Amino acid sequence: MRRPRIVVVGSINMDLVVRSSHLPRRGETVIGRESLELPGGKGANQAVAAARQDADVFMIGRVGDDGFGERLRTGLKQDGIDITHVAVTPNCASGLAVVAVEDSGENSITVIPGANGRLSPDDVTAASDLIRQADVLLLQLEVPLETVLLAIELAVEFDTQVILDPAPAPASFPAKLLAVDVACPNETEAAAITGVRIASLDDAKNAALRLHALGSRHAVVTLGNQGAVVCGPDGWLEHVPSFTVETVDTTAAGDAFAAGLGVSLALGKPVSAAVRYGCAAGALATTRHGAQPAMPTAIDVRRFVPG
Ligand code: ADP
Repeated sequence: MRRPRIVVVGSINMDLVVRSSHLPRRGETVIGRESLELPGGKGANQAVAAARQDADVFMIGRVGDDGFGERLRTGLKQDGIDITHVAVTPNCASGLAVVAVEDSGENSITVIPGANGRLSPDDVTAASDLIRQADVLLLQLEVPLETVLLAIELAVEFDTQVILDPAPAPASFPAKLLAVDVACPNETEAAAITGVRIASLDDAKNAALRLHALGSRHAVVTLGNQGAVVCGPDGWLEHVPSFTVETVDTTAAGDAFAAGLGVSLALGKPVSAAVRYGCAAGALATTRHGAQPAMPTAIDVRRFVPG
């Protein structure tokens, strides 16, 4: 089978996870139990997820010139991802997420974009040949909006399919971001972008219709263990149910979903089938702990969705 070609323009972070019995209150020091350094960032997570789906993956991003930067680049390379366009930014820290988790499962997260904030339109222009040759371009919103907007423009010009996972949803959402083939927010992001409060499947369908009306050719609203709803050209709507699994950690389910959807579309599958494939990848990602280590392989997913 032909290997799909996927380009990701997005964030690369080190997630510093610290565990303690309770989260520190303002001014308090708590002695924690353990700390873990885990590679993350939505861009890198989706790149790893797509590589596990047997795609040829090219990452366009930035890390800092600190120790994390080199480790993050090496990690991506070990996952088989082309990092020619992952630049090291001088005098800059790598993107960092400090994730504090207490025993009850509650967490609090501080994200410092660092080098991700320096990923510029020029970086995308320098990699425009990659976007021209790609089957699918995967985008999220953890890098500057102007960079994402240029990537969309180039992909449209080159007739490369674009999937935007609009996460995190910015306070003000430029309509031009929706000039994509597929937008795939989760319900929180869909509500923030459309203003539709989502408490039922019908609400989610309304939000998807609205996203389609705002410009995205297809809109997919992901709904955790409820699966996803899809709206396509002429306003057709479909609910794709989720797969039943033993969930242990929902981290990065959306990243697994977006990558699965992208790889399936790159292989020429229709959108409904690609969403089903994405749902299977998302479900499987919830059966293991963490983000990148939880991403399923193509063999795992095809067990759920044969063919
Ligand atoms: P995000 O991680 O961005 O919040 P979701 O939680 O909506 O995104 O998950 C993305 C997709 O992964 C869903 O559409 C669904 O198909 C699948 N998924 C997520 N959580 C579960 C779950 N608990 N059980 C089964 N499938 C799930």
